[in-house]
Amino acid sequence: MSQLYDLDFPALQSLLESWGEPAYRARQLWEWLYVHLADDLNQMTNLPKSLRERLAGETSIGVPEVADTVQSEGGETRKDLLRLADGETVETVLMRYEDRRTACISTQVGCPIGCAFCATGQMGFRRDLTNGEIVAQALHFARVLRARQQRLTNVVLMGMGEPLLNYDATLSAIRRLTDPQGFNLGQRHITLSTVGIVPGIELLADEAGHRGGPLQITLAVSLHAATDQLRDQLVPMNRRYSLDALFEACHHYIERTGRRISFEWALIKGMNDTPQQAQALAARLAGLLSHVNIIPLNPTASYEGRPSSRAALDAFTRELDRRHIPYTVRLRRGIGIQAGCGQLRQRNQHNINRTP
Ligand code: SAH
Ligand code: SF4
Repeated sequence: MSQLYDLDFPALQSLLESWGEPAYRARQLWEWLYVHLADDLNQMTNLPKSLRERLAGETSIGVPEVADTVQSEGGETRKDLLRLADGETVETVLMRYEDRRTACISTQVGCPIGCAFCATGQMGFRRDLTNGEIVAQALHFARVLRARQQRLTNVVLMGMGEPLLNYDATLSAIRRLTDPQGFNLGQRHITLSTVGIVPGIELLADEAGHRGGPLQITLAVSLHAATDQLRDQLVPMNRRYSLDALFEACHHYIERTGRRISFEWALIKGMNDTPQQAQALAARLAGLLSHVNIIPLNPTASYEGRPSSRAALDAFTRELDRRHIPYTVRLRRGIGIQAGCGQLRQRNQHNINRTP
């Protein structure tokens, strides 16, 4: 059964046209899906009953079921495990800050890359998500927020999976979420995080935005190490795309888009928190339009690495200060609720049918 969220506007138009519907129906249905966030065909009161019945018989909207949910104590972070049509589950997180509400969404079930420290990597790869399954996660939280008269303001593609290994579905989802006649999220309110798939970064550099010009999303690169020797260990993809190749692609991306790249760095005690790594990082970033996000490692079941000490963090950032490298030390949200990438699904593998 096809899912409506998997169809872009031309595909929805041609489906309804093939059913003999007038041309304006596609726009009506589109607005129900992406402006009014309808999760039930019966809400679509300006569509004739016969059309709603046919849609119900031959399609589904693609709204995932909530299989589990956990909330942080203050309620500002919530993580939902969503069950897809084939029974697979993905994690999606909502973070509420003073001035914004961010959904962290997944692009694959599991991940084929296998970074040592990552719970998603530890579970292996199950399958790619469809574009509709990616979109549905953001709409899910948009509905949750709407019930409190709030709007979803940001989306980060930082959940399970590697977005640039599921390129077409990811780009289609980004275009859907930013469609001015639909959900209308600003391109600048979307961040795509990649482990550093060089051909994907090259493709992304050439994507057009709505009004010509480059796509305005933020690219985040999960760097974690600034020497090939260390990065080979932490991020196996580095053996395929070395740091030189990765940084060449980053330079090209910045040249084409004029956009600053964020570099993610999870500080791991005794591994990548040394002054030598900070110096190597500063050397790589010299002259590059960049920002480093330093995150304490979130410990996971199958990795013995630990977060760095305060003293190591301070020594690390001192090196960056000395070389005028812009950075932010981020507090990890939701450690108490297994909000680290892949951890909720890991917990649920043995009781996957649990309901909230
Ligand atoms: N595959 C993409 C996006 C998903 S991972 C990527 O790797 O960028 C999202 C972010 O979470 C990445 O920066 C990743 O390195 C980080 N991450 C994964 N496991 C982590 C952990 N245990 N502690 C801290 N950060 C982690
Ligand atoms: Fe995959 Fe990203 Fe986790 Fe690495 S950090 S295993 S690329 S999800």
